[in-house]
Amino acid sequence: LAKQSGHNHLQFYVASIDQEIRDRKLLERDLSEALAKGEFHLVYQPQVDLETRRIIGAEALIRWNHPTRGFVPPDHFIPVAEANGAIVEIGQWVLEQACWQASQWAAKGIGVRIAVNLSAVQLQQADVVEDILDTLHRHNVAAGRLELEVTETSFMTNLADAVDKLHQLNQAGISIAVDDFGTGYSSLTYLKKMPVQHLKIDKQFIRDLLLNEEDTRIANTIIDLGRSLNLSVVAEGVETAEQEYYLTQRGCRLAQGYYFSKPIPAREFETFVHSFHEQFAENNV
Ligand code: C2E
Ligand code: MG
Ligand code: MG
Ligand code: MG
Repeated sequence: LAKQSGHNHLQFYVASIDQEIRDRKLLERDLSEALAKGEFHLVYQPQVDLETRRIIGAEALIRWNHPTRGFVPPDHFIPVAEANGAIVEIGQWVLEQACWQASQWAAKGIGVRIAVNLSAVQLQQADVVEDILDTLHRHNVAAGRLELEVTETSFMTNLADAVDKLHQLNQAGISIAVDDFGTGYSSLTYLKKMPVQHLKIDKQFIRDLLLNEEDTRIANTIIDLGRSLNLSVVAEGVETAEQEYYLTQRGCRLAQGYYFSKPIPAREFETFVHSFHEQFAENNV
């Protein structure tokens, strides 16, 4: 009997793996058609300077609305796109859109820097630097308007190559942020070698800030590290006034999170910037 049920169990297990493979293949198929079918769009999340109360940046985040699947979260499909290489084309599309938006905003006097997430797979492409600079050029966007967010995984495969490429991008005037800082294989060697200007404290350390002593200490450590290495620090996932107050007092200069705004479409972002700045101007009178 035991043998019998073990066998059934194995069959069930194989069947569920089978199902997983089929699901994944279907997702890959839909993903490969999504660009051509116009199913992607970008939303922008404001980045706030806590000292001046100005919106200084916008992080571009991809959204996928599939006709039958509905909203598919990036955490679900980006890893699949990275694994099968589709991220290269998707990432280039994101960059095009973001640069187009940056040029529109520059023309309207909205002086924000646009932050674009750059996958480790994209950074490994031989012509990534050329492609990025060419995109900026075609949209007539100053390099200083673009920030690229990379994660620590980008430094792991080929450190020398990553350093070289980021250095070239940096030399051209593009700034580099380390995203989700503290969650990857953080190494001070990377920080020393990497031409980076910003550290983004991962939202997992901000969520329980002031409630969890360890998270508070980690956030403090990243803020101090930023100060000593002369890197600007961005807190992501700020959701409450208490978190904002603490970070401001602690000397964390930049923040982004639902407390200020969720990621929103470009038109809404414009309205948000104006009302945020007006609100503060009024508070100052
Ligand atoms: P990320 O780059 O670390 O982006 C921050 C994520 O935190 C976003 O999730 C954002 O919507 C979310 N977030 C912002 N403020 C808050 C908050 O106050 N509370 C909470 N709970 N969440 C907040 P999203 O848009 O779902 O993106 C998830 C991840 O997918 C991103 O993490 C990034 O790694 C990846 N991703 C998104 N768009 C792109 C893209 O265009 N290219 C690449 N390569 N990756 C992308
Ligand atoms: Mg990011
Ligand atoms: Mg992040
Ligand atoms: Mg992330």
